[in-house]
Amino acid sequence: AKSAGKNRYCFYSNEMELQEIRRMELEKDLRKALDNREFYLVYQPKWSVKENRLVGWEALIRWSHPRLGTVSPGEFIPIAEETGLIVPMTRWSLKQACRQCVAWVSRGILQPVSVNLSVGMFWTGSLHSMISSALDESGLDPCLLELEITESMVLHDIHEIIRQIERLREMGVRISMDDFGSGYSSIGLLDRIPLDALKLDRLFTNDLETPTKRAIISAIIQMAGNLHLDVIAEGVENEEQVSFLTELGCHVMQGYYYGKPMRVEQVDEWMLRKGI
Ligand code: C2E
Ligand code: CA
Ligand code: CA
Ligand code: CA
Repeated sequence: AKSAGKNRYCFYSNEMELQEIRRMELEKDLRKALDNREFYLVYQPKWSVKENRLVGWEALIRWSHPRLGTVSPGEFIPIAEETGLIVPMTRWSLKQACRQCVAWVSRGILQPVSVNLSVGMFWTGSLHSMISSALDESGLDPCLLELEITESMVLHDIHEIIRQIERLREMGVRISMDDFGSGYSSIGLLDRIPLDALKLDRLFTNDLETPTKRAIISAIIQMAGNLHLDVIAEGVENEEQVSFLTELGCHVMQGYYYGKPMRVEQVDEWMLRKGI
């Protein structure tokens, strides 16, 4: 048993070394990824069940690594955040997403696009100018841009974040709280951060089995309504979830059931199928 324990230790240590090597490699390559045009955006639809129509798109970044293939944002965003590469990367995403939204608008598809923001972007001192230049350069109407922020920002200087969010909303940009309910003091934030929408976390949406869970979701949906916030459920994968959520008063959904994140070409096919 002792030797087995030893082997296991060796196994873990090798594993950790491999992870560390991969991380270092990714970090090195991430520095060149933007110049090498290895990033692209995919878009996932937001769907109103009540109105049976498309109500927006979320832009999600992808990294097509020359050797490793597609690296998931779950792996490279933390590295980008730690190294500061998140700043030029976000600038690129914002420009790209605004430009794409304008292209859709010019074809008569008048739906907002949302971009995810890491909390660190609030400390760069350049978030506001980054967003206004993405809007100016593309010509996108600010009300067609939405920024998705996460609850983790309660751990930071909330006054400064609120000040910046207020300035962004004055420009006409929409703000939504991503992953709502996944942790931290969600509810306490709602009367402090000026928001337009709440996105119910996927873990929440996927766990509607017990009456208790349903009671909690139902209370959140009602509260959001009283606060005049839109509610959108994330990670909706099946009809059962759709009917539960609809019953509980949530009418806008996002998830594989309606559409996976797609490259622009696939978005066209998807819209054709939906008769858009
Ligand atoms: P998120 O913003 O919560 O995005 C939702 C994630 O859930 C996406 O993963 C999406 O592909 C996935 N998803 C959507 N519908 C379903 C579903 O029905 N079932 C399941 N199982 N998954 C679903 P993705 O694209 O891997 O992104 C992961 C996270 O990386 C995002 O979570 C977001 O926090 C971050 N991220 C992605 N793009 C960007 C970006 O451009 N900037 C920043 N700062 N973060 C980004
Ligand atoms: Ca998001
Ligand atoms: Ca989310
Ligand atoms: Ca998430």
